[in-house]
Amino acid sequence: MYEDIKELIKQKNHNIDDNTLKYFTNYFYVAVKEKLIPDSLRLEELIKNALLYASKIEFYDEKHRIFQENGSDVKGFRDTDTKTIFIRDNLEEPLREITVYHELHHAIQTNPENDEVGINQESNIGRLIMEAQTQYFAEKVYQEIHGVQFETRQIPSETLRMLGNGMVISNLHNYEMYDNLLNKLAIILGVSKDYFVSINYLYKNNEGLKDLETRYNEIREKQKLPYNFNSLLLVYDYIYCVDLLAYKKNKDKDVILNGEETQDAYEIHPNQGFKLSLKNQRAYLNKFDIDYFLALAQNGGNFREFAWHVVDNEKRAIIEQYIGTFTVQSQTEVPNKKS
Ligand SMILES: [Zn+2]
Repeated sequence: MYEDIKELIKQKNHNIDDNTLKYFTNYFYVAVKEKLIPDSLRLEELIKNALLYASKIEFYDEKHRIFQENGSDVKGFRDTDTKTIFIRDNLEEPLREITVYHELHHAIQTNPENDEVGINQESNIGRLIMEAQTQYFAEKVYQEIHGVQFETRQIPSETLRMLGNGMVISNLHNYEMYDNLLNKLAIILGVSKDYFVSINYLYKNNEGLKDLETRYNEIREKQKLPYNFNSLLLVYDYIYCVDLLAYKKNKDKDVILNGEETQDAYEIHPNQGFKLSLKNQRAYLNKFDIDYFLALAQNGGNFREFAWHVVDNEKRAIIEQYIGTFTVQSQTEVPNKKS
């Protein structure tokens, strides 16, 4: 199958260099093998889509214009004019190769009509989910191709451009906080994270986003989830926007990193402006964690696994205590059968 996919890519672009061809083949091989491409799409279409945005992969050093323009934080960059994916050469492996798959994944999930990626077709709607699944899949491709498994780590929140006194559990090498939120959404919906990869290929007419909304609303009824779909996305995308501003070059980067609130309001979703700060980010995160934990615990959801991903240390300690009591109670409720 690997060689067939390689041939198919070569047919679509005779000029592709060997290294680029290898990365393309690795990517599509894993997507096909893991059955992540929705039935309504053909592999050829996706390859064509990828080549529209990226026909070569180039590694750049500090002297390169991409480095000068974007600074030292940017890891990868898609240049639509030259159809090139640029990757910062001094990244350490495995992040260097993972970043290739990350950018390639964005290219394949980009809508040629508006250049928007995946379920994020309007404003910032769904951006956190879109980025999180991109990094998740990029790391999955790496692990499958190299036959390795990344171990899960407990990461102190202050090392992730967040307020301290928190912990994030993730096996990723980048975007661990987004992964935390994707993990929680997967638990709430009872799906694998692969599901989010698949729906992001369905950017046409917002099909992927609609699928997610339908699924969410079904579970919301059953488990009496506290937020409607839009409010849920707003929380996710607020958390995302704070992180983005703390990461890329912009006038408010230092404001956010210093723990202050921005003077200006940012439009998170259409006509919904908010000032951004790490404190508000944590407040949204805490409220989300508690609200959903309680809903899952009270309505038969997977609250134990969810509890693992509660970020704030104090909140998690309270929840662990609650689970302890809960377990003792439910054990005593069952009468001992003695024969
Ligand atoms: Zn990205």
